[in-house]
Amino acid sequence: MKESMFDAAKARYDAIIPAGEPWIHEVFKGQYLRIVDVEGNQAADTLFYNALDFEDRYSAQDTIRSQANIYLTTGTRLMSSRGNVLLTIVADTCGRHDTLGGACATESNMVRYAIEKRYMHACRQSFVKAGLSWGRGFEKRDIAHNINFFMNVPVTPEGGLTFQDGVSGPGKYVELRAETDVLAIISNCPQLNNPCNAYNPTPIRVLIWDPQD
Ligand SMILES: [Zn+2]
Repeated sequence: MKESMFDAAKARYDAIIPAGEPWIHEVFKGQYLRIVDVEGNQAADTLFYNALDFEDRYSAQDTIRSQANIYLTTGTRLMSSRGNVLLTIVADTCGRHDTLGGACATESNMVRYAIEKRYMHACRQSFVKAGLSWGRGFEKRDIAHNINFFMNVPVTPEGGLTFQDGVSGPGKYVELRAETDVLAIISNCPQLNNPCNAYNPTPIRVLIWDPQD
């Protein structure tokens, strides 16, 4: 657990991502991005890219190998598929974030829950919607590994994945420093079938500071 040195009132950018909605924004080298779980127990499914080259993107595998740990928290360097550090987690009042569970999709909703769940909105659609709206050559095939900020997916001693009720709470946040120019896409998870958000999607707040703020 580590608190931030930044004052929310001095942020350059401060926005709310409504429950179930996507968000896309650049974070430039040296800037700080804070993601706040406003009401608690909400999953913020997040993708990161090199802002100038979408093929150089967040890699869960490289991040886990680099730090020799499956959970993300303060000190974690988010590695790209080309071995670059995209961002570093510099503050975290939640304490643990998942990068194994993946993002919800209409297909996985059908397999996990019921065939009629196919028509429910899912994170993968939010990622595609945000990416296509951004343009600049972003395509559906650019959707890759994601981080589930505030989501609790403990791994059992036998290696099993378990989706548990969150360890987050109202106002908990994670803060990252961009180590290169980054494009961030957040799907404020619309899932209604899984305890990742206590079956009740709620808003996420995002803030950005320049280093001198
Ligand atoms: Zn989701």
